[in-house]
Amino acid sequence: MLEVQDLRVAYGAVQALQGVTLGATAGRITAVLGANGAGKSSLLRAISGIAPVAGGRILLDGRDITALPAPARARLGLAHAMEGRRLFRQLSVEENLRLAWNFGSRNVPLDQAMAEVQQRFPILGERARTPAGLLSGGQQQMLILSCATIRGPRYLLLDEPSLGLAPIIVRQIYAFITDYTRHSRTTVVIAEQMATLALKVSDRAYVLRRGRLVLEGSSADLLAGGPEGTLVANYL
Ligand code: ATP
Repeated sequence: MLEVQDLRVAYGAVQALQGVTLGATAGRITAVLGANGAGKSSLLRAISGIAPVAGGRILLDGRDITALPAPARARLGLAHAMEGRRLFRQLSVEENLRLAWNFGSRNVPLDQAMAEVQQRFPILGERARTPAGLLSGGQQQMLILSCATIRGPRYLLLDEPSLGLAPIIVRQIYAFITDYTRHSRTTVVIAEQMATLALKVSDRAYVLRRGRLVLEGSSADLLAGGPEGTLVANYL
């Protein structure tokens, strides 16, 4: 279980999060929805230890990690696939995967981990020696997800995995995320602007607006129109 309690993030005078409380259950997908600038990335970045926390607490399975530096959080099994396709662009697909595996906490040999990636995304096997920067947007997102999951994280933070991708690729990426979560029992938090998509795969959802939570509930309820018929779209 990942818990965030009354979390505040401030970049100097800019208050990106103003007291956000939420929980993510093990083995489930939790969605964080919101428009551009709502604070989704700041929330994920604060959880992984790279945004300035101005107040509140972050707990992993009851342990307060708020004061831990980012590498220590990664060692506890927290992985963060950031927005903007951050890869080593000059390095090949295989080299990116190998680097990610090196940081891993999982006891799986490299060959086996690589074989699993190629089974899930055969195109990454075909393009193993291609520099990551030359992949298409969809292939880069597949590589990012593979790098994040090759480590066998216990908690996985995904920042806008659908960003800039064609609908057919988005479906493929989301099918992977759903399947992976079910099989690995990882605690997954997805930040998304595409609300319907994220609500369909998640159990619970939180809607952020200008750094505050404005709506939360089971994803099924929110998809059906919200508790009092309130549409999520009204809050985005
Ligand atoms: P996006 O989808 O555009 O990433 P978001 O919901 O993830 O939006 P954040 O990126 O968390 O939102 O931004 C929340 C607020 O914090 C915005 O007003 C943004 O301008 C501000 N902000 C984010 N990062 C910084 C920073 N490094 N320095 C100053 N302000 C920042």
